[in-house]
Amino acid sequence: MAWQGIEGHDAVVERFVAAQARGRIAGTYLFIGPPGIGKSTFAHTLARSLLCQSMGEGLVPCNVCRSCVQAKAGSHPDIDTVSKPDDRATIPLEFFIGDSDHRMREGLCWRLLLRPAMGSRKVAIILDADHLADEAANCLLKTLEEPPDNAVIVLVGTALERQLPTIRSRCQIVRFRPLASESIFSILKREMASQRDRDQLDNDDAQKKEPDNDSLLWACAQGSGGSLERARLLLDPMLTEFRGRLTALLSHRPMHGVALADETKLLLDAAGKEAPIRRARLRIVLESAIDFFRAALRDDLAGEPSCDPALALLINAWAGSAGEAVVSLRHTLDALDAVNRNANLTIVVDAWTALLEQPRLAQTT
Ligand SMILES: [Zn+2]
Repeated sequence: MAWQGIEGHDAVVERFVAAQARGRIAGTYLFIGPPGIGKSTFAHTLARSLLCQSMGEGLVPCNVCRSCVQAKAGSHPDIDTVSKPDDRATIPLEFFIGDSDHRMREGLCWRLLLRPAMGSRKVAIILDADHLADEAANCLLKTLEEPPDNAVIVLVGTALERQLPTIRSRCQIVRFRPLASESIFSILKREMASQRDRDQLDNDDAQKKEPDNDSLLWACAQGSGGSLERARLLLDPMLTEFRGRLTALLSHRPMHGVALADETKLLLDAAGKEAPIRRARLRIVLESAIDFFRAALRDDLAGEPSCDPALALLINAWAGSAGEAVVSLRHTLDALDAVNRNANLTIVVDAWTALLEQPRLAQTT
């Protein structure tokens, strides 16, 4: 039975259960693992458990005490979460130590020094730790080194290399692995069932109960690379359709960078204004292109045809050389890196699509 409904991270759960049983919960943790696999959910569930007023054995929160209820509602006074705002490249310094008029009279570091409002400890969760600027990190160092009495600070990031050495060395590192396809499949299935229940409650004539499309769910789970966030996006029919278009656009010779840019931007605009969703969509587009170029290369270099028949067909139609695939792959990896570093998405799309056209230009000169 998964701990608090969290699938795929049993080893991490065991580690915390053992630490709790020995009274050895540390003051600072750094959660590391790819995006969309549940690190932040884990951090919040851990916070709820640690603050529960009648926690059971195995770090199991009672889920009914005042502390659990407030934690579940996201309004617990002793759980302090900070994250990077959508429109900023880094977590602002004032989130940690207050703005210039209220230095060390506001902000997370200051709040951690206050007495807990409900129980005996506070939990701070710092999401987007990849985006800690030097100045903010320096302000955090002392707090990480000597966390206030009983406080637990959890930083959540995607890769160890993205963390400053000064932060890394002060935290216990907890690694989260990508989720197994089976776990993603069962989570998607559960989500679809509860969505259907909600739809039926909202809509009296929703009598016709549509069956789950298990093979579609399974394909999305397998194509997700272990990320639940990615699997949810793959379920989006618009995105599925676009991925089909994408391989055609990438195979087309001559390559039309402007057409690819326009179609990609339309796909992002259809996602609305929310930056994280737009960013996640572009990530999927770039990752699909990376899969495509890698398959093209494998096909070209090893004479090993792609095992996906649809992809093999497109790759066969592709007139590009192995050299072109290498260059295109590199540009696409760079674009993905820029997206992960929070670059402006329109600029990334324009630069990426223009660069993809270049191998052809280079060949003709
Ligand atoms: Zn409780």
